[in-house]
Amino acid sequence: MKIIAYGICEDERPYVKNWQWANPDVELVCTGKLLDVESAELARGCDGVVAYQQKSYSADLLKRLHEMNIHNLSLRNVGIDNVDVEAAVKYGFKITNVPVYSPAAIAEFGVTQLLNLLRRTKEYQAKFAKRDYRWAPNISKELNQQTVGIVGAGHIGRVMAHICRGFGARVMVYNHRPKPDLVKAGVFTDSLDELYKESTVISLHVPAVKSTYHMLNRDAFAKMQKGVLIINMSRGSLIDEQDLIEALDSGQVGGAALDVLEDETKIFNKDMANQPSNYPAFDDLNQRENVLITPHTAFYTDEAVRNMVEQSLNANRELILTGASDKMVSLA
Ligand code: NAD
Repeated sequence: MKIIAYGICEDERPYVKNWQWANPDVELVCTGKLLDVESAELARGCDGVVAYQQKSYSADLLKRLHEMNIHNLSLRNVGIDNVDVEAAVKYGFKITNVPVYSPAAIAEFGVTQLLNLLRRTKEYQAKFAKRDYRWAPNISKELNQQTVGIVGAGHIGRVMAHICRGFGARVMVYNHRPKPDLVKAGVFTDSLDELYKESTVISLHVPAVKSTYHMLNRDAFAKMQKGVLIINMSRGSLIDEQDLIEALDSGQVGGAALDVLEDETKIFNKDMANQPSNYPAFDDLNQRENVLITPHTAFYTDEAVRNMVEQSLNANRELILTGASDKMVSLA
């Protein structure tokens, strides 16, 4: 059995090596190249392909793999948004993903950034760099005094709620489908408006779907407490960036920590040194002392990377051996 893994980075190599050692029945080929129509040739003779990239898995690419009799594709990431699903069905592909690789990685980073906002670390670092060591007037707030409104009670939202409760914060959780265990624990609300009204911090943990597109816009900000802090570790499309800028200007929003942006593929995971961003909303938000932007790195821990590598390779091997895997994505 032969598998090729595309786009393997330095940080993934030790986990790939361990996996190969534990699975001697597999001939594993690794390349740093991303999977596209040209590099697909490297997969000739393989039974399965493992990949992780923002580049699209186009109809042409899938056709190329199909012509080489390769139909087992395992993605090391969660989403399959960049797969041409119609072509995948047409050419008979079986696709797996890694739906949960480390919810704690994202939740812990969300809390880190929330603490940074509350303790105004960006402001202090800017002052410190100018050798201004006075503490006033940048007085901070404590997490144990906050009401944290968590939107989305999935894998990550639940860990975020757990950590915030551990810090002594009051936590409210909203989910579009009620969660009986959270109702029982007394932290659930079925009203987003109530969560907006009560929370001093709002943290988003829902997927990017039609119903969540620009869910935080001018109308939503108007329903919140003045000075509310916004945490978005989920997807950029959840927030209307122009409306956020307006709300920051008026003080309605007191600060934001954004690990994701609507047009992040323009700039994130690229070396942009000495290059204009050509992304005015990013430039505006990034120069603010009460806005913390990170380049979609919340997931990026050794634990998460290990799980992505191991689970995708296991799933691909399973597909080849049995024609199925519990990580298989429905293409219907
Ligand atoms: P999940 O599927 O486990 O949970 C999502 C929850 O949102 C579910 O409980 C679902 O019922 C709920 N939901 C769906 N639509 C909703 C709506 N309209 N209103 C309220 N609730 C709704 O997902 P997860 O693993 O917790 O991931 C959450 C988000 O985090 C996703 O958008 C994911 O893409 C993002 N994410 C970001 C990073 C990063 O590095 N920044 C890494 C992984 C995941």
